[in-house]
Amino acid sequence: MTEAGGHVPPVASDGQVPAAVDLIRAKRDGVPLSAHEIDWVIGAYLRGEVAEEQMSALLMAIYFRGLDPAELRAWTGVMIDSGERLDLSGVGLPTVDKHSTGGVGDKVSLILAPLVAACGAAVPQLSGRGLGHTGGTLDKLETIPGWRAVLSNEEMLAVLRQAGCVICAAGAGLAPADRRLYALRDVTGTVESIPLISSSIMSKKIAEGTGALVLDVKVGSGAFMRREDDARLLAQTMVALGTESGVRTTALLTRMDTPLGRAVGNAIEVEESVATLAGYGPSDLVEVVLALAREMLRLVGIDADPQAALADGRALARYREMITAQGGDPDAPLAVARHIRTAPAPAEGWLRRLDARAVGNAAWRLGAGRARKEDPVTAAAGVLCLAKPGDWVREGEPLLELRADDESRFEAGLAALGDAFEIGQDRPALPAPVIDRIGG
Ligand code: URA
Repeated sequence: MTEAGGHVPPVASDGQVPAAVDLIRAKRDGVPLSAHEIDWVIGAYLRGEVAEEQMSALLMAIYFRGLDPAELRAWTGVMIDSGERLDLSGVGLPTVDKHSTGGVGDKVSLILAPLVAACGAAVPQLSGRGLGHTGGTLDKLETIPGWRAVLSNEEMLAVLRQAGCVICAAGAGLAPADRRLYALRDVTGTVESIPLISSSIMSKKIAEGTGALVLDVKVGSGAFMRREDDARLLAQTMVALGTESGVRTTALLTRMDTPLGRAVGNAIEVEESVATLAGYGPSDLVEVVLALAREMLRLVGIDADPQAALADGRALARYREMITAQGGDPDAPLAVARHIRTAPAPAEGWLRRLDARAVGNAAWRLGAGRARKEDPVTAAAGVLCLAKPGDWVREGEPLLELRADDESRFEAGLAALGDAFEIGQDRPALPAPVIDRIGG
């Protein structure tokens, strides 16, 4: 918010002070809002002077009309200024973060943060929890006994200095306006708006104080953006917002038609991440991690080979240091599911498709995910993909292993799979996981 903190109402050209309803009408009719109007309306909403139904109507008008670049800059700026801005200059290393728009089996952060730290940058990764069919980084790491997601700013900086990387919950002081607006968007059908998503994500990342940022914008059935042109527009919008704010920002568009790696769930994804850090990762996951690591290092001007840091154990050592610094025991056994069922191949042939969203929904129904942000998640629940697209499978061979603590969940888990897989006699062409780079 401006110096006036959004307290001074905007004045129209006829000298009249418009009410919130005038701004709603203007946006509804395609008239852009001024920076001052945006500052005022968000500030007045946070102070309780603009009603929930009025902000809901404004969000819906934005959903249909969008925000032009000047409006988007102003909207994002107000969200950033609604809270604190972290100062990471005391870390003494170039800082670079990664944000993923979310996918199924997306455990990239667990591997990437220590990997990039091992190459000489500092990675402050403020993360979130999962909702719906996509998992959350914090839910995964919380399956490690003792590990703490919630750190004070001082603790976060101390871990960052010690291990070179930290993964923790974004503090309540970062872009608090986004928390209110996101909750309202969630219940008013206005989440899926490119300017609103961009300002929501980028306000938190800019307030976090990172010097550089790589966005992993996922495209496909398991992603927020199912179509490549939408993902491209989202990436371009976020890259522009970051760059204008002085954060060196680029984006990679990566595929999310099938789960990344083989594990989908919480503890099971930690296991796969540790295996990857030890050099035994599935090739699609390793390819995405290395592409993002190279991009992050490029942005901060570090000439190092992340493949070598993965192969020689330096990244794994950083991971162990980070987990320990946050109270976790990297050697403690992780939760094991009480019950296992398998989904067999209905025919012999090439596995042509294994649908990310269906597998994500199955893992969610088995207990790995949550429908509301207050819901608990089950550490051991999830799905292990025993076959991946491009594999030859025999009829009756298990394709997926479903894991749950509560046996009654299998019915919903199996139902959620629907027609998750397609088997055919033609060998599928497997496209590269990284589609394009935007910006930079
Ligand atoms: N994640 C966010 O932080 N905000 C959005 O609007 C969507 C996804």
